[in-house]
Amino acid sequence: MDETLLNDAFQELHSAQRVLVISHIRPDGDAVGSLLGLGLSLQALNKEVQLVLSDGIPVIFRHLPGSEQVQKQANGEFDMIVVVDCSDMKRTGDALINQPLPDINLDHHPTNTDFGKYNLVDSNAVATAEMLSEYLPRFGFPITTKVANALLFGMITDTLGFRTFNMTPKALELSARLMEAGGDLPGLYQRGLLNRTYEAARYWGVGLSNLEREGRIIWASLSMEDRRTVKYPGRDDADLISFLSTIEDTDVAIMFVEQGNGNVKVSWRSQPAYDVSQVAMHFDGGGHAAAAGASVKGDLKEIQDNVIAQTKTMLSLM
Ligand code: AMP
Ligand code: MN
Ligand code: MN
Repeated sequence: MDETLLNDAFQELHSAQRVLVISHIRPDGDAVGSLLGLGLSLQALNKEVQLVLSDGIPVIFRHLPGSEQVQKQANGEFDMIVVVDCSDMKRTGDALINQPLPDINLDHHPTNTDFGKYNLVDSNAVATAEMLSEYLPRFGFPITTKVANALLFGMITDTLGFRTFNMTPKALELSARLMEAGGDLPGLYQRGLLNRTYEAARYWGVGLSNLEREGRIIWASLSMEDRRTVKYPGRDDADLISFLSTIEDTDVAIMFVEQGNGNVKVSWRSQPAYDVSQVAMHFDGGGHAAAAGASVKGDLKEIQDNVIAQTKTMLSLM
């Protein structure tokens, strides 16, 4: 990270009074944790803050302090716009319509397109929340108990409980600081990674019943019909992909989820020797070497065949 750039960005943030903070569509724990962590820290300095997620705040994140403040659209004018955990502008959805280009782009995706005035991108960070837990105290932004809980939640969820291959001693040390500041590690772990609804468990059952394997690739799909059958309310995979990635003797796991708007959400997870973000980029998506995603237009079965073929070719997995 360029220290001058980092200093300049946070000095400007200190001077700003009206701040807009935004994260990505289909928000995950790091998107929400980073959004709330930064937002609540700015509010503790009496700044006027708007927190925006184009898709709103999912029910599963409503236990986090500050989540009730999240709105779907930005209203008014701002001194500064900060985008967190977004690899490109499209990830902000329509949250930035009628707003100028972002001032700070703070993210940990290697596929980041440097779309801001200050591009603070660190692909060694396990989560955007890790970057914030380092920078906020360093530049005089308070880590209150609420901020600590939000940021720790981002770190726990993006690392699946500190067990992804990109884990570092630094991420653990910063997490320990957040615990000291009041972060409830066991509670956040429970709510972020373990708790599941009955409907989600049945949805997993449907996905697992069509699990397929060819060589060292494994995949499953979930349709709109599947969701209706088990009454699963979301449009995601209820994180079934994390379970698929634990199955032995596979290098790549892929999940296909039919969306209902003519799109299929594709998620990839891989073992360390493979970089699935490159395959995701081929389908106009992005992500990390070991975890990537894309939204692909078309029919579920056709997309499935095409994505599996491309994944095999690009990763030389035959
Ligand atoms: P997911 O499969 O949705 O859990 O996403 C895995 C990783 O890929 C996360 O870091 C996402 O931010 C990223 N990702 C997912 N979908 C997209 C997309 N359409 N464009 C860019 N990055 C994505
Ligand atoms: Mn994210
Ligand atoms: Mn992240």
